[in-house]
Amino acid sequence: MKTIIDENTDQSRWQAVETRDTRSDGQFVFAVKTTGICCRPSCRARHPLRKNVLFFENVDAAVKAGFRPCKRCQPDKLAPEQQRIDRITQACRILETSSEPMVLAELAAQVAMSPFHFHRLFKQVTGLTPHAWQKALRAKRLREQLTEGEQVTRAVFDAGYQSGSNFYQQADEVLGMTAKQYRRGGERTAIQFVVGSCCLGEFLVAQSERGICAILLGNDAQSLICELETLFPHSSLDVGDDPFARRVAQVVSVLEHPGKPITLPLDIQGTAFQQQVWQALREIPAGQTASYSDIAQRIGKPQAVRAVAGACAANKLAVVIPCHRVVRNDGALSGYRWGVDRKRQLLEIEAKQQEE
Ligand SMILES: [Zn+2]
Repeated sequence: MKTIIDENTDQSRWQAVETRDTRSDGQFVFAVKTTGICCRPSCRARHPLRKNVLFFENVDAAVKAGFRPCKRCQPDKLAPEQQRIDRITQACRILETSSEPMVLAELAAQVAMSPFHFHRLFKQVTGLTPHAWQKALRAKRLREQLTEGEQVTRAVFDAGYQSGSNFYQQADEVLGMTAKQYRRGGERTAIQFVVGSCCLGEFLVAQSERGICAILLGNDAQSLICELETLFPHSSLDVGDDPFARRVAQVVSVLEHPGKPITLPLDIQGTAFQQQVWQALREIPAGQTASYSDIAQRIGKPQAVRAVAGACAANKLAVVIPCHRVVRNDGALSGYRWGVDRKRQLLEIEAKQQEE
């Protein structure tokens, strides 16, 4: 029985060598009896004959058996892929121990990489940009401290937020509720969600016991789920059941026909100010736009232009709360939480539907 298993392992190992499978690097090395050299599975050198090959668990075992590490693939060094991952891990440790937010250039320099490559690799390894990762880390620290029952203000400073007010602006976005509420234990709501694709890309629709609580747009399901977790850190998230999935069809039809009214109950969670802004947004008819200062005026707070922009950026219900209909005073598109290209696409769809 044992020989069969060994046979299979060697067979799959040989297959990895033949296909120069980089995923097998670090799993084993192969040694060539005729040359006395041992290699990584992915070595680019010409392949030896199978009959001359021996497999070892690691390079040390091969060296002990009298083989020399290949100069080309350097099985005695860390794989380049692993070296890169190690640098990102190192960067994460630096961020974890730093009490202040770090800028990209500074962080990249600490692990001896260019900011451009560092940013790309960081995203590839962690799934988040360094900025988003730091933000998530701060939110996590804050959650831990708040649950331990510390004073809100202290927790905010300890978590590395620049100032208390800066935090409170972000609190709803990061915690999905205010810090004080969170400290009281928050609402342990159950949220179910569905992920799918529509003409705007990937979407995620989530519902609490009270109604649709998030409609998010993005390019891949995984980051949408991360976004949902960040918005509702205290809720239990579950994949939606069939009746919910059917209701989502109505949301999708609104996403594809942005002027269409939605009849599903909405669970709009936000501060009183945000709710006011979002209500004003819902009064902009499809096919029309308003500027941030228009909205500020409409809610009777003409000075609050920046705060209006903040409330637009904190919108959790894409399209249904049409923050895509808010543009700059000069008509330029300006930002959109789910990407400016998507904003342009939505406005084009609406313009077309007006013509029909
Ligand atoms: Zn080699």
